[in-house]
Amino acid sequence: MIFFILISGDPTVFGNLKACKQTKEAIIKVIEEGNHDGYAPAVGFQNAREAVADYLSDDNVEYSSEDIILCSGCSSSLEMCITVLADPQRGQNILIPRPGFPIYRTLAESIGVKVKYYNLIPEKDWEVDLDHLESLIDHNTAAIVLNNPSNPCGSVYSESHIRKMLAIAYNYRVPVIADEIYDRIVFPGNKFVSTAALNSPVPILVCGGLAKRFLVPGWRLGWIAIHDKIGAFDSEVRQGLVRLSQRTIGSNTLLQGALPDILKNTPQTFFDDLIDTLVENSKICMNILSKAKGIIPFKPQGTMYMMVEIELNKFPEFENMLQFGQKLIEEESVFCLPGECFEIPGFMRLVLTIPQVLMEEACWRIVEFCNRHNV
Ligand SMILES: *Cc1c(COP(=O)(O)O)cnc(C)c1O
Repeated sequence: MIFFILISGDPTVFGNLKACKQTKEAIIKVIEEGNHDGYAPAVGFQNAREAVADYLSDDNVEYSSEDIILCSGCSSSLEMCITVLADPQRGQNILIPRPGFPIYRTLAESIGVKVKYYNLIPEKDWEVDLDHLESLIDHNTAAIVLNNPSNPCGSVYSESHIRKMLAIAYNYRVPVIADEIYDRIVFPGNKFVSTAALNSPVPILVCGGLAKRFLVPGWRLGWIAIHDKIGAFDSEVRQGLVRLSQRTIGSNTLLQGALPDILKNTPQTFFDDLIDTLVENSKICMNILSKAKGIIPFKPQGTMYMMVEIELNKFPEFENMLQFGQKLIEEESVFCLPGECFEIPGFMRLVLTIPQVLMEEACWRIVEFCNRHNV
């Protein structure tokens, strides 16, 4: 039986999605020129930071190269942001989404920073439960992590929803870490709005990188973009981020050399093709999975994932999603990450980056499995 790996968040594993020609040419050129083999300043080369500032700036938000710090992947950006904002010695905490990307907790707890989960509401396209978020804030809350578009939910927040979230952050004077690694991977009918593009006085550290949109997760190039209209980060945070970047002597210089070309020369058709693939696969999942009894697929608005709710009371054989997922592997060779990985039991995450025929086959197997075990 063929094994279908629906588990990985890495879009390159099946070989159907690859970096574009311009991206590869940019890195080859830098290697051949041989002028990016030494160390860069720890925060990154000036022209690479400027290229990121240009890439992120538009009519609603403007960055200069001074606002950009290059990192070894978006994970490293997140790590630096949590480290610079939260002080474990003072017992500080950060608020993170449930369901959410597990690395927030890993990064925070590994340096002794506490996490508190705020709920997302599945029935409202995974919007933040604003009352719950507010109820969690205390005098030790150092930051709110907002992940938009969301892994694992596949949700894309409206401007008005982000504004409401920012209003709470402002009331309590809590800065925001905006994980926007899926920026612009949104499906037709939805619009990506950066948390920093709303002219809010809330200081925001936007984290992003090449991994997902440019399909090169292994290249490890990420960034932090500092958005701070009131100068709250001027005295300590900006300097703290520079010092944190010095711990690793900065990010990969070949990538930095290629970054201006990658960001400028990647054709729009490349991004459009990626979105077409993801939308096609999401339609396949919604259509086929609607034929299964006892599960509810949630239509994604962007990213590379979608969530499926399993009505476990209709599957009395299984006590939890781990057992459900285990049996799905044993009987159908279909791997899905159980909701437990994202702190939301009763759900599983599907990935939308696999080839279409495999996507269809995997969905049909899930349908057969559900209809066989459903009572
Ligand atoms: C993949 C992912 C990242 C990590 O990106 P890297 O650049 O590969 O470190 C960060 N946040 C979320 C939500 C992700 O899904």
